[in-house]
Amino acid sequence: MTDINANRPYRIINRRKSRQIQVGDVKIGGDADISVQSMTNTKTTDIQGTIRQVNECYELGAQLMRISVPDQESAQALAQIIPNCPIPIIADIHFHYRRAIESAKAGAKCLRINPGNIGSKEKIREVITCAKDHGCAIRIGVNAGSLENDLLQKYRTPTPEALVESAQRHIKILEDHDFFNFKISVKASDIFLAVASYQQLAKICDYPLHIGITEAGSQFAGTIKSAIGMGNLLLNGIGDTMRISLSADPKEEIKVAYQILKSLGLREYGVTIISCPSCARQGFDVIKTVEEVEKRVNHIKEPITVSILGCVVNGLGEAQHTKIGITGGGNNRHNVYLNGLPDHKASGDNLVEHIVDLIEKNTIKKNNK
Ligand code: SF4
Repeated sequence: MTDINANRPYRIINRRKSRQIQVGDVKIGGDADISVQSMTNTKTTDIQGTIRQVNECYELGAQLMRISVPDQESAQALAQIIPNCPIPIIADIHFHYRRAIESAKAGAKCLRINPGNIGSKEKIREVITCAKDHGCAIRIGVNAGSLENDLLQKYRTPTPEALVESAQRHIKILEDHDFFNFKISVKASDIFLAVASYQQLAKICDYPLHIGITEAGSQFAGTIKSAIGMGNLLLNGIGDTMRISLSADPKEEIKVAYQILKSLGLREYGVTIISCPSCARQGFDVIKTVEEVEKRVNHIKEPITVSILGCVVNGLGEAQHTKIGITGGGNNRHNVYLNGLPDHKASGDNLVEHIVDLIEKNTIKKNNK
């Protein structure tokens, strides 16, 4: 199999040099992989439902999960949820300092809270001290939809400068308290605003950046919007951890995040399928085959590339760069390539079964991350 990156300098992304922080056992920034996170959408007081959702996302590769803590009951539930989660939990606090303290004590490894919104200096100090005492990181989460009033008056509308100025205020508060274990996001639902804000922020600090296009929309539209916005940032080396915001099951957010990262060669994870749109030359039903294979190999975490093309026209070239390659042939007999070389023929009658079997044999079946 030929190395697709050999002699292809245009495939190299120079990541911004950020300092590294730690959220539980997950490193963010520096030379750490860009981590993937999502957020539960169950009621936090539904303890079993929330635990189930965190675990389902973990199975698909989530490395961090965020849980809302809107009230005291949710903070109490968090204390029971966290011990049953295999990955660090980020507590999403709107601004209430007590919820932040309760969440840190409950075992959250990161608080999503803007220190400038907490209130008095005493409350700010209390939250930061508690985060330090419990080894809790903080995410400063600036959002175009909830900018401070004075900044809205100054800039008239959310602008990149306004978002970055807001972030700078929160950064200063944490730094003034000798707290440096934090990451920052400057999200907007407008791609241009989000990208420009992250670009400006990336220039003025070296803190790790949590990237996202907020409220991106439905699964279909939001996936495209996120891929454009975050793809732009990632291609330019910006981003240390990411969340896709879709009006969809959080599991879809994890899948989309990995697909974006894999497309850019920034992560290797699970089965990557290269497939053609199909046409009259196809030797088998490409669309149906790809759909079925994709569903059947969701559980595989080990990276593997598979090409499934309806005929040899482009199939041969793709098969040379993938671990397993399929190209449609005549008489319901299709060509199978392993490691870029012709290996055997497979019948179209049980092609899906055959491809899934090959993928599982070439990875560790139901392997754990
Ligand atoms: S690979 Fe073959 S079947 Fe697929 S779109 Fe191209 S020509 Fe058509």
